[in-house]
Parts: sequence; structure tokens; C-alpha cells
Amino acid sequence: MNKFFTCLLLVGVLLGSVPLVATENNALRPVQQTLCLIKPEAVAANRIGPIIACIEANRLRVVAMKMTKLTTDQAALFYAAQKVTPFYKSLVGYMSSGPIVAMVLEGEDSIETYRKLMGPTDPAQAPRGTLRREFGTNVEMNAVHGSESVENAKKEIAFFFTDAQIYSRLHFTHWSGGIFLDSARR
Ligand code: UDP
Ligand code: MG
Repeated sequence: MNKFFTCLLLVGVLLGSVPLVATENNALRPVQQTLCLIKPEAVAANRIGPIIACIEANRLRVVAMKMTKLTTDQAALFYAAQKVTPFYKSLVGYMSSGPIVAMVLEGEDSIETYRKLMGPTDPAQAPRGTLRREFGTNVEMNAVHGSESVENAKKEIAFFFTDAQIYSRLHFTHWSGGIFLDSARR
């Protein structure tokens, strides 16, 4: 079985096909990219460093990053899906109220991994150790944003970054033969 997976990985590397990593038990999991925002109140509270430290400690890699400030029009566009909600106007005002940090995170199942790390929308409902529990203030000012699906992530990443601004760092970190392959793709 080991040989089979080794061959499969080599073929993938050589063809530059869909990136996969082998975990310790050789299960193949997709490497994904997702959008993370550190929201205005968390930036204002000087929590950028601790939030990124948690992200990195959870095996997610920052492959693009910038500080920016959304205009109300940009915030309205980014949260267009929430237009029908009673909190939309307030959300747009809040998200354009100060600088934010936008990042692309890369890792195995990064969309789900990062959503779990964030915790649910309301920090009061979030388990200990999640970003929203540790750094969030209330259901609106909940410290961080994360994409919800592969499609959504693609759209949200493109909202902030061009392809040339993303520095993928795909490593087969669990390669059992001691060979370390850096197959960064652009
Ligand atoms: N939000 C809010 N009131 C609510 C629910 C959501 O102000 O009752 C804000 C909150 O900042 C949240 C954002 O709207 O992060 C987007 O809402 P969504 O339902 O997509 O939650 P998320 O995916 O961020 O957990
Ligand atoms: Mg959402």
C-alpha cells in the first residue's frame, strides 16, 4: 500500500496535478486555500500577532497577507450575501470602520480546519480555544472572518488578492522516505 501511495504522489508531483498531501496514515487530503480576515476591532485591540500565531499553530500557512481598509461600498459588496439580513447595515459600517488584515491561508482541508479554529459566529457560543471565543467581542464584532466553501473561498480570495500576490507553499511534510519536496505552484 505504501508503494502505491508513493507512486501516486510522485505522479501527482510530476504532472503538477491537484495538490494532495499524505498524512501519517497515508490518507490523502486536499490542500485548499481560504480567505481569513482579522476584523477591525481585533486589529484595533492589537491582536494581529496572537491570532496569526494560533493560525500557524494549527498547521495553516499564510500564503498572502495585507493590511487594508474597506470603503463602505467594498464592505457592502463583500457581504452582499447578507444584504437581506437585519444586521447588514451595521455589519457594513463595522467592517469599514478601521483597518483589517486580509490573508490567504493554505493547508490540508484549510476551509474546514480554519472554520473550526474560528468557532461559531457568536463568540458566546464558541468553545474555549477558538479564535472567536478568545478574541471576539459579540456576534457582530467576532474578530475573524473565514470562507465557507471552495467556491466562496475562490471568490473571496479574488476580492483581495491577484494570483501573483499568492505564494503557495505546498510541502509534502509527511513524506515518509525523508525526502522533502517543495512543489510551490504559481
Ligand atoms: N453577523 C451579525 N449578526 C448576526 C450574524 C452575523 O452582525 O446575527 C455578522 C458577523 O460579523 C458575521 C458576519 O455578519 O461574522 C457574517 O455572517 P455569517 O452568517 O456569514 O457568519 P460567519 O460565516 O462569519 O460565521
Ligand atoms: Mg459567512
